[in-house]
Amino acid sequence: MKILIKNKDINEALKKVSNLGFVPTMGSLHKGHEYLIKQSKKKCKQTLVSIFINPTQFNNKKDYLSYPKNLRKDLNILKKLKVNFVYIPNKKDIYSFKRKEAIVLKKENKVLCAKFRKGHFEGVIDVMDRLTNIIKPKKIFMGEKDYQQLLLVKKFIENKYETKIVSCKTVRNKNKLALSSRNQLLSKSDLIKAGKIARELFYFKMFLRNNKKTKNLLQKKIELLKKNFDIKIDYLEIRKKNNLKTSLNIKNSKIFIAYFIDNVRLIDNF
Ligand code: AMP
Repeated sequence: MKILIKNKDINEALKKVSNLGFVPTMGSLHKGHEYLIKQSKKKCKQTLVSIFINPTQFNNKKDYLSYPKNLRKDLNILKKLKVNFVYIPNKKDIYSFKRKEAIVLKKENKVLCAKFRKGHFEGVIDVMDRLTNIIKPKKIFMGEKDYQQLLLVKKFIENKYETKIVSCKTVRNKNKLALSSRNQLLSKSDLIKAGKIARELFYFKMFLRNNKKTKNLLQKKIELLKKNFDIKIDYLEIRKKNNLKTSLNIKNSKIFIAYFIDNVRLIDNF
């Protein structure tokens, strides 16, 4: 496993690699990331994993500074998975040039997390553009856990590069809670609570399949979750899978949630 830090190391190491799979991460790796890496290893000849906590996608400095970091553990996991390359760039190298055209989200895309985290996706798209330009992978593996991110990045990258984005299912624990680096910031009791919320939404989706009055049911669900779990909900909405437009029917749609337990913001979709 080669560890690459500088851009010139990347250029040198990847000179003769043609079928490269890329898994971008912010580290604190878990089984969700591992699944993406396994998919890349299956579909590509070589795999590169990046670990970079991108400052520009955090709309809150405290959130950025408290983001979990476990580099030594991450490197052990990557070694065991027999990843070919790990790229751990520094901020200076990634942001060595100013972009010519600012990333601007269309009005229709300013929903869900784009509405609640100003500048977040602009930061994600910017860093994915820079990473793709440096690495030039054949495929990029991304999780459905961050569904809105997946759709926005796919549109931007596939429009600009030959690279294809491969979407990978969400990996959950036995309580149906989506694995996330942020789960490390939760107390044991909050982890259990988050698992109960995930289960409740999983069964709520099944219930919606036989029900037409989704608008009323959603509102009731929001009130119930707030009351039972003492959480602050940014949104609980049903939106179409392909374009994230609002939907009154669960068919071809998903339930999207973002909420805070204590001060930790979790997102999921079902
Ligand atoms: P992150 O390190 O949180 O920026 O995530 C890096 C990549 O892993 C993103 O494409 C995420 O969507 C994906 N990912 C995070 N959690 C999961 C999960 N539980 N299952 C599958 N993919 C995930």
